[in-house]
Amino acid sequence: MVRRIAVLGATGSIGASTLDVIQRHPDRYRPVVLAANRSVDEMERLCRLHVPDHAVMGDPEAAHALAEKLKDLTSTEVSSGAAVLDQLVSASFVDTVVAGIVGFAGLRATLSAAGAGKTILLANKEALVSAGGLFMDAVKRGGATLLPVDSEHNAMHQCLPTDASGRSHMANVEKIILTASGGPFRGRTRASLMDVTPDEACAHPNWAMGQKISVDSATLANKGLELAEACWLFDRTPDQIDIVVHPQSIVHSMIRYCDGSVLAQLGQPDMRTPIAYCLGWPDRVAAGVAPLDLVSTGRLDFEAPDMTAFPCLALAKQAIMQPGGMCVFSAANEVAVAAFLAREIRFTEIDVVIANALEAVNFSEPQSLDAVQALDNEARSAAAETVAQIASLTERQEKER
Ligand code: NDP
Ligand code: MG
Repeated sequence: MVRRIAVLGATGSIGASTLDVIQRHPDRYRPVVLAANRSVDEMERLCRLHVPDHAVMGDPEAAHALAEKLKDLTSTEVSSGAAVLDQLVSASFVDTVVAGIVGFAGLRATLSAAGAGKTILLANKEALVSAGGLFMDAVKRGGATLLPVDSEHNAMHQCLPTDASGRSHMANVEKIILTASGGPFRGRTRASLMDVTPDEACAHPNWAMGQKISVDSATLANKGLELAEACWLFDRTPDQIDIVVHPQSIVHSMIRYCDGSVLAQLGQPDMRTPIAYCLGWPDRVAAGVAPLDLVSTGRLDFEAPDMTAFPCLALAKQAIMQPGGMCVFSAANEVAVAAFLAREIRFTEIDVVIANALEAVNFSEPQSLDAVQALDNEARSAAAETVAQIASLTERQEKER
């Protein structure tokens, strides 16, 4: 049986890795739905290559432009809008949904796939972090199979026994050890990070990823998001998870059992491995990844994270203890990262924007999708206010100079 796959975020980094693995196994997988937002040219290329039944653009104008370009490709139907995507990911002709849209924008379709009982390959950690309770509930009620693509959580999944629906058994687990690369600025002081540029922040030493997650890796906000992600996926409290910096990104995370055994999953820093694991699960399929050569790797180092130089992780650890806190954290972080990439704020002001939003917003655990959306909106407004204040202060200072 050929598995029919919807790739959400097809034009992104996760989308590219997913389609690369799928292409290696035409007898097993077929991409029937491709979804993106505005990247019309890349989507046209992907549609001509993979000939999906449906191509969905978040942006209606982009969908219009794509439909024009694909006039001759009659077997691909082009559409747009969140409601269409909800229908498609829930349709009977889709077996598996790859959740690779970046940020909160990916929540709605991923929730729909969960409710429809699909197999979900989850890369979009922001959806889980913002609406963890609702999302895990939808997975349970819908009878969905949830498999983590994020390399650390994928490593954890590989080191834990699972039941037929992919749920991990946590019996006798003492600790989860979540590894972090430390990002491009590992070892730097906070003062030295004042003037780093978006290009420097996006130049991750080990992983090639989209811009947003690259900045998150540089601030360690990503590790905060991943801490929350691990709590939801593996039913843990934050104190049951240790964070260890491992600069080589070869050990992708570990599980320590009560007898002292520590199981680790190792591999090249290449997302095709966790994606192939999820596509193949419970079987294994080739990923096209070069074999890991431990002799040439040479060393595996481990150290404690520096939460003084990278306060985003400390902020996440506080936010995670308050229901609804990570929804605010994640939304404010998205606004702050976009402002940093647009050169409106400094790298060292990202955490300031998040901290202010956590102070300004009166939050509690959202109980519905509407409530999550409202909390996300409120956090974005609070974050945008700090960004505006910083920008006008910087402008004044520059005029005075
Ligand atoms: P990219 O920025 O490379 O790609 C993002 C994708 O999302 C693009 O296809 C983009 O389309 C699409 N998109 C954005 N907004 C919308 C929208 N409103 N509707 C439909 N599609 C939309 O991101 P990554 O691939 O790096 O990351 C994707 C997710 O996976 C993130 O949540 C990230 O945290 C997670 N992840 C990524 C890893 C990686 O190695 N890259 C590793 C672990 C997790 P368009 O091109 O048209 O804008
Ligand atoms: Mg990760």
